[in-house]
Amino acid sequence: MNPSTSKQWQQIVWRWLQLGVDPAQSGAVRRRQYITNAVPALVLLMVLFYFLLFFWLGNWALASISLKASAIPLLGMVWFYRQQRLGRPPHYWKACLICQATVLAGILGGQGTEIGGHYYFLLFFLTTPLVVPTRDKWGMLLVTSICIGWFSLFDLHPWPASAEVAALGADTIKLLYLSVLLSGSVILFVALLSGEFFSEALERRIQQMACTDVLTGLANRRVFYQTMAQWQLACQRERRPFCLAMLDVDYFKRINDSHGHEAGDQVLRALARLLQQGVGRDDLVCRMGGEEFAILLAGRSLEQALPLCEALRQTIAATPMLMGSELLHVTVSMGLGQWHGVGGESGFLAAVDQALYAAKHAGRNTIRLHMDGAVLAGLPRQETRMRDYSPSADSEG
Ligand code: GH3
Ligand code: MG
Ligand code: MG
Repeated sequence: MNPSTSKQWQQIVWRWLQLGVDPAQSGAVRRRQYITNAVPALVLLMVLFYFLLFFWLGNWALASISLKASAIPLLGMVWFYRQQRLGRPPHYWKACLICQATVLAGILGGQGTEIGGHYYFLLFFLTTPLVVPTRDKWGMLLVTSICIGWFSLFDLHPWPASAEVAALGADTIKLLYLSVLLSGSVILFVALLSGEFFSEALERRIQQMACTDVLTGLANRRVFYQTMAQWQLACQRERRPFCLAMLDVDYFKRINDSHGHEAGDQVLRALARLLQQGVGRDDLVCRMGGEEFAILLAGRSLEQALPLCEALRQTIAATPMLMGSELLHVTVSMGLGQWHGVGGESGFLAAVDQALYAAKHAGRNTIRLHMDGAVLAGLPRQETRMRDYSPSADSEG
């Protein structure tokens, strides 16, 4: 199959699975509904598999029973399609009815229980939690009881097969019995595997949602604290330095007040892009909340981090943002510090915050450093050389 045909098939299958599924429902509900949607098609495939097997064995009596039974999942698919086109969500009782009716049609239609067809009721029992919601206790009890009931009934009181089936040789019967057990086991295995696959995909999605800021797509405060804790350990073990820059948009409230909240949001998104583009691959930009961002700069001392922060500040100040027909000039203030472990995490955050506060007080659109317990002035605006710093001369408190 060429790649475009295979893609088309994937799309058809995916569209079928999504029939009637409300995307606003929780992941666990959607997962059950996708599986419910898949049931009639899977039953149809199963019946067709047996039709081919019996045909290959040359037993037309058995093959014709399968062919007749295939009408049930086929009609089931049409029923599902119509119901879900009307906006009705896939419901497990329809899937259960189709499964059980098909197996019953096979057994009562002439296959009997001699080849072990009733073991499918055990399979349905085991896979019930994949389609019935766990909180629907009565539904779960009813479906599982029916499955166990049918299985026990047929196991205690075997149903006779039609004369053509009963005439099959003992070896063929054994082979058919084995194929029923094996195919049931394969279905159970695939069901468990797909359940696991869905759970993992769901977990990845939830993880991503829990770590991402919705407005900007940046990492959020949670990731910031996790990453900082990891980097503190790396710093201790490998003597790998790192810096933290806290950044706050200047007079952001005015942008909101004069251009509206949506314009403010656009500015935050544009700023997030500029910050992301301006840092290195190992650095981490986070939105801490409101118009405040944090940048963790990996493997950099204060001397190495400062030019990068200064470049970011200048880029932001020099990049006007288009709001409707108006060009907006946005500036940011930054506090910068290097982790040395003194005062622990809260002490470090307070120190960098203090530097940011000093940057605001110094007139904004500037950087202040926290170094050796003192806040120092940033580089002269157009320069980025650390040697121009003189702690004794620039100390502000
Ligand atoms: P300063 O230079 O001192 O930082 O002044 P400022 O106006 O930036 O600071 P202030 O704390 O007075 O105002 C911050 C504003 O940010 C107030 C709040 O409405 C706005 N804000 C917070 N979160 C969001 C957001 O997600 N979107 C938008 N559009 N505005 C936000
Ligand atoms: Mg603020
Ligand atoms: Mg601000």
